[in-house]
Amino acid sequence: MKILVLNSGSSSIKFKLYDKEVPVITGLIGKIGEHSSQIVMKDLVNNKEKTSDVPVPNHKAGVKVINEFLGETGIVKSLQELDGCGHRVVHGGKNITKHCIIDREVLKEVRRVSVIAPLHNPANLVGIQAVIEAAPELPNVAVFDTAFHSSMPDYAYMYALPYEFYEEEGIRKYGFHGTSHSYVSKKAAEFLGIEYSKFNAITAHLGNGASVCAIENGKSIDTSMGLTPLEGLMMGTRCGDMDPAIIPHLVRITHLTAEELDVIMNKKSGLLGICGKNDLRDVESLIKEGNKKAELALNMYTYRILKYIGSYFTILPRTDALIFTAGVGENSHNIRKKVCDKLAHLGFELDDGLSQGTSGKITVVSKANSKQKILVVPTDEELEIAITTQNLIK
Ligand code: ADP
Repeated sequence: MKILVLNSGSSSIKFKLYDKEVPVITGLIGKIGEHSSQIVMKDLVNNKEKTSDVPVPNHKAGVKVINEFLGETGIVKSLQELDGCGHRVVHGGKNITKHCIIDREVLKEVRRVSVIAPLHNPANLVGIQAVIEAAPELPNVAVFDTAFHSSMPDYAYMYALPYEFYEEEGIRKYGFHGTSHSYVSKKAAEFLGIEYSKFNAITAHLGNGASVCAIENGKSIDTSMGLTPLEGLMMGTRCGDMDPAIIPHLVRITHLTAEELDVIMNKKSGLLGICGKNDLRDVESLIKEGNKKAELALNMYTYRILKYIGSYFTILPRTDALIFTAGVGENSHNIRKKVCDKLAHLGFELDDGLSQGTSGKITVVSKANSKQKILVVPTDEELEIAITTQNLIK
């Protein structure tokens, strides 16, 4: 089956075409709506690349660019010829708990939930709409970041606010990065030869956005992100957990609006807020130069990861594996070491040699005699979306 996977952001579209679960075309259209856009598209079969900076005014025009490139490659004539398109949709809200074929009702619900996901759902929707317009007959599937976490028990997802906020406004923990937590835990179970329905794990997805998840018997039972992807760990530009009373306090003393505070907490905080850099590699370079704020930022970052792993260890009756994934989790031995060195008393013993030698494959990085297993598992959210789309269309 030929499946296109689309990840539409507010000013970008990332896409990948799969033929029988193998990526054949990949691309990114960035800076949509600006004077010059950034287009990079690769035909992986014929080893050809196309780059351009022609302005792409909106997502509809972006999908047209993708459609034309598909035709140029000769792999398919156009979008119409595909078997389906899988869309990453960030928030499914209270009512959508499973990935699904997109119809009017699904679109309506994703639009309704935009109130609690204003940074993501509207952008996801324009991408879906653009594909529907370009290829009306093509089946579209929505794969939700929140769906994997719909198995959380109520005592884990409820906030201790008046109950009406949950009933009337849907205020609860939803969790994100579901496709990644689900993909890497399934891969790890398969690798360790444990039936997924009996597999327990703690997964740490550490990318620009970051979250930790506790998985019991193949199901998410708790995760660090909440109503939005802001809760939990300290991230590249997001603050993560803090005393909620800080918000009304800041409103009172600075007169910042809700929108301005939202931007500060999501885009100007985290590693960036503390030391001026959001890419962990840059933070590490600053530390080498003796920058104390960068050192503080890194200590805060790893301390939070450690606290979440510790708390999820206590809620799981048994842990089969601690899994590191995404940009930082897969590539930074330094972060794995800083975290795992403090987990030795819980039985997680990192093997420095193995952890330094990871190479884009599933790797056990714990010592041979470590009581608990530590794994690095490369994530592949696009492939997970392609497989899910394929299964739903079948
Ligand atoms: P996203 O969350 O946008 O999908 P990724 O999962 O690709 O992002 O993670 C990107 C982040 O991974 C970068 O910002 C960078 O901090 C981090 N990263 C990538 N490679 C390394 C590395 N070798 N060492 C430390 N951090 C890295």
